[in-house]
Amino acid sequence: MKLIFEKGAPGQHLSLMPPCDVPEVTLSRPRTEPLNLPHVSETELTRHYTALAKRVHGVNDGFYPLGSCTMKYNPKINEDMAALFSQIHPLQPEETVQGCLEVLHESEKLLGEITGMDAMTFQPAAGAHGEFTGLLLIKAYHARRNDAARTKIIVPDSAHGTNPASAVMAGFTVVNIPSGEDGCVDVEALRGAVGPDTAGLMLTNPNTVGIFDRNILEITRIVHDAGGLCYYDGANLNAVMGVVRPGDMGFDVIHLNLHKTFSTPHGGGGPGSGAVGCKEFLRCFLPGPVVTRDEAGYHLTVPEHSIGRVKDFYGNFSVVVKALTYILTLGREGIPEAARNAVLNANYMMKRLSEKYAMAYAGPCMHEFVMTLQDLKDATGCSAMDIAKGLLDHGIHPPTMYFPLIVHEALMVEPTETESQETMDEVCRVFLDLWDLAHQNPQALHDAPTRTPVRRLDEVGAARNPVLRYTGE
Ligand SMILES: *Cc1c(COP(=O)(O)O)cnc(C)c1O
Repeated sequence: MKLIFEKGAPGQHLSLMPPCDVPEVTLSRPRTEPLNLPHVSETELTRHYTALAKRVHGVNDGFYPLGSCTMKYNPKINEDMAALFSQIHPLQPEETVQGCLEVLHESEKLLGEITGMDAMTFQPAAGAHGEFTGLLLIKAYHARRNDAARTKIIVPDSAHGTNPASAVMAGFTVVNIPSGEDGCVDVEALRGAVGPDTAGLMLTNPNTVGIFDRNILEITRIVHDAGGLCYYDGANLNAVMGVVRPGDMGFDVIHLNLHKTFSTPHGGGGPGSGAVGCKEFLRCFLPGPVVTRDEAGYHLTVPEHSIGRVKDFYGNFSVVVKALTYILTLGREGIPEAARNAVLNANYMMKRLSEKYAMAYAGPCMHEFVMTLQDLKDATGCSAMDIAKGLLDHGIHPPTMYFPLIVHEALMVEPTETESQETMDEVCRVFLDLWDLAHQNPQALHDAPTRTPVRRLDEVGAARNPVLRYTGE
């Protein structure tokens, strides 16, 4: 496929803009060289992007069971609502954007109710950004109490890779603790790890292998008794939203991925929202501005001991509008129902696939489950990667692969509540057929995919020698 710069010819252009009918203004620092833009017609540009769109796979193309990423359907009404706010500028005076501030205030209230948190910021642009922000709140809390010894964050070995990375970015040292056989926190190991240097614990519950940790109250108590705070990685809230609340599990700070659980589009680095919630005693540290309300209306204010901004303006506002639309559409009954159906769907697939595939942990699972293909690989030579590539030929996006790291030949499947039983039946049939194919003709799977725009990529080469810029012929 040609790049856009390789198409068109000089003189071709878009006919979107009418001729200029106002006086031209000379900039103080005019461009010295002409901009290197492609010379293409509107038709050609449209075709180019349509062709690109046909070569990628999204939730609107087919099944996308990317574990831990919650690739659920994005309702179109969310887009309609976000479009209502498209004419707003972030520098407008407060009194002219009362509706926007109400959106933020209302979202804070509803998400606070869902999570058991008292205050929230929507500035972070992604989950990992939310983790970083939440950890800075923990850091500010200890610093204000003059407790400089608390420099360590405890992270279980099953954690999402962003957790230890964010802790290091926020200036902490990471202490890894092992998981038990059931994938849950080893409570004794935690007891041994906490101490006067513990700043906090980062945890996902249900954890990254799709298991709800039943010891959660004891876990958060151990950390609190040692003087640390508890951080909840809420990217997996889809399994429990409206059913149990991290605030009630004993967590002090959380982040949510509005772009996962709350149905706003994601992938490809698009705008996300890693909203951060906290308990009342941490409100004063939140990034500013936050939205407050009095008789005169909504205001933007900076919390007393704010850690400062973590992003320009107010975060990705349109993502918050979409998430709020989703919450209001589902309502008080719909939110827990979505969570229960997500869990039901995952268990349905887990049960059907157990016919042939080995599960890393015994069920029932929460919103996702992890298979281990080590035995299949030993028997046939076909790896988790080969099965994943085989799925591509059937228009199915592979599950998350080789994660969590504690499971060999892992495939982590998260169907989400937005898939029908018919779709899941069809996908299970493909999975089971691929199992048979691995035994009958392993070479066919080593050769897969054969029906995609590109075949197997050199992933090591792509990582070691990335080509990130178009450099011409
Ligand atoms: C997706 C995810 C994150 C990171 O979210 P990003 O928006 O990709 O930065 C963190 N933790 C868990 C458990 C996740 O699934």
